[in-house]
Amino acid sequence: MGDSRPAQHSDVLILGGGSAGYACALRAGQLGLSATLIETDKVGGTCLHRGCIPTKALLHAAEVADVTRAAERFGVRATLTAIDMAAVHAYKQSVVDRLHTGLNGLIAGRGIAVIQGVGRYVGNRTVVVDGNPYTGRAVVLATGSASRAIANIPIGDRIMSSDHALQLPEIPRTAIVLGGGVIGVEFASMWASYGAEVTVLEAMPRLLPGEDDWSSTTLERALRRRGITVKAGATVTGARQNGAGVAVELAGGEAMEADVLLVAVGREPRSAGFAEAGIATDRGFVAVDRRLTTNHGGVYAVGDLVAGPQLAHRGFAHGIYVAEQIAGRDPVLLADQLIPRVTYAHPQVASVGLTESSAREQYGDITAIVYDLGGNAKSQILRTAGGVKVIRRGRADSGGPVVGVHMVGDRVGELIGEAQLMVGWEALPTDVAPFVHAHPTQNEALGEAVLALAGSPLHIHA
Ligand code: NAD
Repeated sequence: MGDSRPAQHSDVLILGGGSAGYACALRAGQLGLSATLIETDKVGGTCLHRGCIPTKALLHAAEVADVTRAAERFGVRATLTAIDMAAVHAYKQSVVDRLHTGLNGLIAGRGIAVIQGVGRYVGNRTVVVDGNPYTGRAVVLATGSASRAIANIPIGDRIMSSDHALQLPEIPRTAIVLGGGVIGVEFASMWASYGAEVTVLEAMPRLLPGEDDWSSTTLERALRRRGITVKAGATVTGARQNGAGVAVELAGGEAMEADVLLVAVGREPRSAGFAEAGIATDRGFVAVDRRLTTNHGGVYAVGDLVAGPQLAHRGFAHGIYVAEQIAGRDPVLLADQLIPRVTYAHPQVASVGLTESSAREQYGDITAIVYDLGGNAKSQILRTAGGVKVIRRGRADSGGPVVGVHMVGDRVGELIGEAQLMVGWEALPTDVAPFVHAHPTQNEALGEAVLALAGSPLHIHA
């Protein structure tokens, strides 16, 4: 290590203070362990400062704009005169700052030491920061992920990742979004709500390729109705900045121009230096066993560093799981498939469990039902369209448990909790059908779909 100073030692030494890292520190502190958190930037990481929270604030402002524009549909006369991006950013930042202050308070309250600086894992359960060694009885690698760049598309002023797009001082007049995954769809939706002309280019045959086919089709139809251009199966061969805009070339020779290009083609693990320190990696992800242990004894990896869905709430779960193991407990880690997924666009897409095609592949005999939000009173009040799809194993009226739920429509993300309990607890439709849903709520749509699978639909034409 080349340093003779005695290392500062704690029970749990965590490299990275994002969702996974800070959750690990908080749980470790709660369990009476000493914890040290090493963070280069601000605790809270990507999710709090450059991801989940600021994007959802921008999307909420976008929803306010949409509702204002559509006010007359509800008999309210209102005119959308302008979107003041400086004020929108101030609102967004106030939410982030408040949460950041709260998080700092929690961390201090649990007696967690925070070391500010760039940490380098050097093996032997040691991380060096500014030449100072820190050791842990256990080390937790939690350095997260960063936007992926692609060849022939140099990032610059007008060709940007989501980090930059979040800070744009002005609304682009026209925007091209490269990648129709979660980030691409959320930004496309937001910019369109703010008044931009948006085109989404997706290499795969449909948007959100990881979601159920039905969700992708329903979402795509809704986005097209909003005036967003979606080009699926589009391969981009290059892009460059040209004065006041960007020029994008597609395979087949087609060219497109816009004010800005957002590159949203996935995120890669921030694992530089780990392999050199002897940590086994696989395509950049840290290789772990089912207890999230790396090939170094007492060294764990959590969150986006571990291959699987890159979601903040998965990071929280990983961090808590590892802290409990270090404390000598025997925790259970939820399977990735049971982690809920929400895309916060207008309309939203939410899901948990298997898609219809993967359920069919896995079980052969399955039944899927879609309940259209057209029959759901609250969705009609909100004037949102979409549906709820529930998949069970086996036959409609006598089969097995619910294995997947997929929903499209405004606000359906808020329904995912109940869906997740059904799938996670392997509920039979007949187990949940007797539970009464408050009327009128969007939850009733999930209830109706389950009633139909249990053989007793109330508001579905037989
Ligand atoms: P993603 O993997 O979800 O989507 C990237 C998309 O880009 C894919 O559909 C892929 O087919 C497409 N693509 C890749 N290369 C392409 C090319 N050359 N041309 C055209 N299309 C191309 O990644 P993302 O949207 O960048 O998001 C990154 C991660 O962050 C994801 O894991 C996502 O789950 C997570 N995230 C989650 C949320 C949320 O939960 N609401 C929000 C934002 C980000």
